[in-house]
Amino acid sequence: MDPGHGGHDPGNLGGKGYRGFPEKTVVLSAALAIKKELEKTGRYEVVMTRSRDVFVKLRNRSRIAHNKQADLFISIHADSFKSPKVRGATVYTLSEKASDREAAAMAARENKSDIIAGMDLEEEIDIVQLILINLVKRETMNLSSSFANELIPQLGKAVILRTRPHRTAGLIVLKGLDVPSVLVEIGYLTNSQDAKLLMQKETQRKIGRSIVRAADNFFNKSYVAN
Ligand SMILES: [Zn+2]
Repeated sequence: MDPGHGGHDPGNLGGKGYRGFPEKTVVLSAALAIKKELEKTGRYEVVMTRSRDVFVKLRNRSRIAHNKQADLFISIHADSFKSPKVRGATVYTLSEKASDREAAAMAARENKSDIIAGMDLEEEIDIVQLILINLVKRETMNLSSSFANELIPQLGKAVILRTRPHRTAGLIVLKGLDVPSVLVEIGYLTNSQDAKLLMQKETQRKIGRSIVRAADNFFNKSYVAN
């Protein structure tokens, strides 16, 4: 479980005209509630990339998942938009090319967190391994999409979804090679209703339960060969 941002990186600051919490605070609170719901089942062990208000580089977040041999990597974020009317959740998976201009802008915003360490994982790996790596990468991308497909209908029972709730973008934090990964923008902090709901424990628990059902379906349908 990966709550976005933290420390000197607040993420987006939400809407003007009402007092809201910065993204780093909202997503940490939500991620801890989601962790609780997952662990309550006794079926899942949840490793946090951060449990406090600290900065963690994007690349280190997916590395934690890799090192722990995680079965899933879920990054939790909250979105912002110029229009305060826009609300709802979006699920992102990795692609080379963004699904639309808005997704590209969102990726640019989220990737900014790591601009200092902006290096692709592939660049660190011997070129002769690239073919094998590409196979693993494709398999991981397929699994990530399968999980997104399980998650979206469940998430829709917990919160409002945006139109076209499954989008793709070149998100650094999702570039962990071998762990199926999604980034969930749980709503818009620039929308006052979303901003209020997302800090409520009940909404956070509902999101948690939707992730539990999605994970149950994902692992039961054994997309992953064990
Ligand atoms: Zn974010």
